[in-house]
Amino acid sequence: MMNRRTLLAASAGTFAAATLARPHIARAAAPFQQPPLPYEESALAPTISARTVGLHYGKHHKAYYDKLNTLVAGKPYADLGLEEVILKAKDAGDTAIFNNAGQAWNHVYYWEQFKGGPVPAPAVLNEAAERDFGGMDALKKKIVETGDSVFGTGWVWLVADGGKLSVLGLQDAGNPIAERKTPLLGIDVWEHAYYLDWENRRPAHVAAVLDERVNWAFVASKLSA
Ligand code: MN
Repeated sequence: MMNRRTLLAASAGTFAAATLARPHIARAAAPFQQPPLPYEESALAPTISARTVGLHYGKHHKAYYDKLNTLVAGKPYADLGLEEVILKAKDAGDTAIFNNAGQAWNHVYYWEQFKGGPVPAPAVLNEAAERDFGGMDALKKKIVETGDSVFGTGWVWLVADGGKLSVLGLQDAGNPIAERKTPLLGIDVWEHAYYLDWENRRPAHVAAVLDERVNWAFVASKLSA
C-alpha cells in the first residue's frame, strides 16, 4: 500500500522538493485540519440558526478533529489522507478512529453542500430522480423518511451506486466512502444538528433543509465526480 511517506521515498528529490514548495499538499495527512466554515454562521438561518451552526461547527465538528488527531498520533494512520483513514479503520475494526475520522469527513461534506444554496436541481439531477424515484419530490420524501428511520444518531445520505441514485440511512458516523458509494448529499440527523431549532421534529427539519438550504447544483456536480 503506497501512502504519502512511501510515495515520497520512492520518487526521489524532484517530487519531494515540489511537495515542500506546496505545503498545503503536504498537510493532507495528520494533523488533520478542520477546514473553515464556508460561510457566516448565520448563513443558514432561520432553517438552521446561527447558534446551532456555531455549536455544530465550532464544538461538535472541531471535537471530532481534535479526538482523531489524538487517536492517530504516532500511528501509521497519521501518514494517510482522511478518506484512507476511514477505509483502513473500518477494515481493521478500529472503531474510535473510524467514528472520529468519519465524523470529521461527514461534516466537511455537510457544510459544503449548503454553500451558495438554495439552488434548484439541474436537469441532470431531475432526470436521475425521475428515473430512480419518480421525481425530485419523491426523492426528497424518501430522504425525509429514511432520516426519520435512523434510530438514535446517524445520517441520511443520497449516493450514486452503480449508475443509480440511492438513499441510505447510516448509524453514528456512517459514511458513503466506507460503503464504497459516491456521496452526493448528507443530512446529519444527530439531535445536535436540529434540536435547538426544531426540538424533536426531525422530519420537518430534514424537509426544510432540503427545500430551503441545499445547493442541488453542488449535489448534481458529484454525479460525474
Ligand atoms: Mn453533527
